[in-house]
Amino acid sequence: MITTHNLGFPRIGKKRELKFTLEKYWKRDITQNELLDIAAALRQEHWQNQKQLDLLPVGDFSFYDQVLDTSFLLGNLPERVQKITDNTLDNYFRVARGRSAHNESECSCIQAGEMTKWFDSNYHYIVPEFDQNTQFSLDASRLLEQIAEAQQQGHNIKPVIIGPVTYLWLGKAKDKSNKLDLLEKLLPVYAKLFYELEKTGIDWLQIDEPILVTELSATWQHALRYTYHRLQSTPLKLLLTSYFGELQENLQLVCELPVEGIHIDAINGKNEVARVIDWLPSHKILSLGVINGRNIWKTDLTATLDWLKPIYEHLQDRLWLAPSCSLLHVPVDLNNEQKLDSEIKSWFAFAIQKLEELAVLAVALNGGKVNVEKQLVENKAAIESRKHSNRVHNQNVKSRVLEITDEMGNRQSPYHERAKIQRKKFNLPLYPTTTIGSFPQTREIRQARRDFRSGKLSEEQYRIAMQNEIKYCVSEQEALGLDVFVHGEPERNDMVEYFGEQLTGYAFTQFGWVQSYGSRCVKPPIIYGDISRPEPMTVEWANYAQLLTDKPMKGMLTGPVTILNWSFVRDDQPRSETCLQLALAIRDEVLDLEKSGISMIQIDEAALREGLPLRKSQWHSYLDWAIKSFRITANGVTDETQIHTHMCYSEFNDIIDSIADMDADVITIETSRSDMELLDVFDEFRYPNEIGLGVYDIHSPNIPSVDSIVGLMKKAKQRIPVERLWVNPDCGLKTRHWEEVKPALGNMVAASKILRQEG
Ligand code: GLN
Ligand code: ZN
Repeated sequence: MITTHNLGFPRIGKKRELKFTLEKYWKRDITQNELLDIAAALRQEHWQNQKQLDLLPVGDFSFYDQVLDTSFLLGNLPERVQKITDNTLDNYFRVARGRSAHNESECSCIQAGEMTKWFDSNYHYIVPEFDQNTQFSLDASRLLEQIAEAQQQGHNIKPVIIGPVTYLWLGKAKDKSNKLDLLEKLLPVYAKLFYELEKTGIDWLQIDEPILVTELSATWQHALRYTYHRLQSTPLKLLLTSYFGELQENLQLVCELPVEGIHIDAINGKNEVARVIDWLPSHKILSLGVINGRNIWKTDLTATLDWLKPIYEHLQDRLWLAPSCSLLHVPVDLNNEQKLDSEIKSWFAFAIQKLEELAVLAVALNGGKVNVEKQLVENKAAIESRKHSNRVHNQNVKSRVLEITDEMGNRQSPYHERAKIQRKKFNLPLYPTTTIGSFPQTREIRQARRDFRSGKLSEEQYRIAMQNEIKYCVSEQEALGLDVFVHGEPERNDMVEYFGEQLTGYAFTQFGWVQSYGSRCVKPPIIYGDISRPEPMTVEWANYAQLLTDKPMKGMLTGPVTILNWSFVRDDQPRSETCLQLALAIRDEVLDLEKSGISMIQIDEAALREGLPLRKSQWHSYLDWAIKSFRITANGVTDETQIHTHMCYSEFNDIIDSIADMDADVITIETSRSDMELLDVFDEFRYPNEIGLGVYDIHSPNIPSVDSIVGLMKKAKQRIPVERLWVNPDCGLKTRHWEEVKPALGNMVAASKILRQEG
């Protein structure tokens, strides 16, 4: 019989219950015990949702992030948090976000841990901190409690942990020491953990080593070999999992590691499965991830069954089936959706539906297709309808893409010439200050948007509400003395959804939330068909805002690559093609903004980097079409129009050439969390255009001091000529409160004035 299992279930709850509970706890509206109770109830529900599987994951739940959980499991807490209190959960939140409660006294705030993207997903994890003296000590209490909880509820479980080599790989050695030197100290802690887990009576342990789909040096490969030989004395059966890609040169290594079973991503790595079967010793289990855990499309069950049948005949009981990766990356339940068009809805599967698909596959293989005939027929009908639907294909859009020319991606003049024209036109001081786009989204704004959607507010009333908000944002910026303004984005719930809703080819869900970091979720829209822009999307708001001030007002758009990377994308044509369709649509908007008199236009490419393939060998082709798409979007404007772009991460070193190649006049970026580490790149590479450094970490409620901002900018000045430096927060301010934003931006403006005086 086939064994079915799951690598991880979304933890946020069908209606984002975890998010709201966490936020209440941070406000101290509920007690820690109430938080713990709600979390336990959520876990219970999630196990119920998965109970048709043979093995349920435990340890995939998290209050913030599974990597941070691992740091706490292994006793690797940054020193700065250790002294504060002995309340572990509060310390955990301090590392995650700088403080454990909104009203926490100053002395209990610490610098939040660095956050970065989890492989090629839009999930962010808290980067483990190491130095050569890092010590580990096991604290398995939370994992053990959850195991006991699941066992009490009668489930057959398989705990999930992050493997030691991936854990080290994900972290950062602050003193630049070799992280792998820590392995000797780390492995005994894992051995101790295994010993504790054995006592719970579990049989299988899932140990995630997703770095196996990346290009590993010989040293890291050796570390994996060494680790699993050292850990093999455990009586636990280890299921070593990799996901998000092919194993390629690590394939043989994976097959040979002394574990009882391996899981591979049979969506991205489908072509490798035959080789894995050849290499895998005949006593090992092979788990195939045959349901895509990264998108929302229904699986073609008939095709998958046809493909699996001979594999099953060969492997028999050694074949396990699962989604390709944790379902953390997809929404919870399609059945919540009441507003989706029924044809389009029939093409989708969310986490719960994906597990149903898995069950159908297992039944069909175990007992024959007859037992699931109805499900297979329904599935086939949905797959066929999607292939042929005329809602998917639009000939005009396809032809426009074919007619794209190189000139469409080029500005009229090179940067140094445009810069002169723009300097004269805008006449900005040195160290101009600006923000990234959004201002705090207050309860009233959200309410107004909701009321408009539900029909409680008329279009006119809604417009007035948004205009009032824009007015407020402008007057605050005026009072703060910023140099370049934004309208504040009150009308946007989300920087991608907002545009998607006004484009054709997009579908929207009500509850399709996916965790991005901590309590923050995104609701990726779904690109199911060819994209076009029927009419202007932002022009009216931008013009309204510009009329309120003499300062330049940045038009604010999301770039094609980010729209693509933060959507669920159709899988029936190359991503590059969908991206070019988006580029043409946003280009139309850029040109309309320009025509209407907006002379600075920011095109956010917050997600450009995360679209990079995990393997460097594939970067080139991605960057080629991604940069081309940006250029087509942005570069149709005249020299007088200043194009800004924004990216909220700090690792540019390896793609700086491509970023420069976008040829935006100004780029604003993250820097404060990584302490200007980013600037190292400018030692070697002379970034040709203007650059705004994110001196205020908007992910933390802490207010940056004037001194710290001045200090950061002085570091910047050593590498980048002052005429090309801007000062800004590292991202949009929509998640913050005005009480935080005003003093923080006030300090930013004050710092800028000091810098100007010093020249
Ligand atoms: N303009 C957007 C905002 O300020 C940018 C957000 C982002 O980069 N994630 O909200
Ligand atoms: Zn950002």
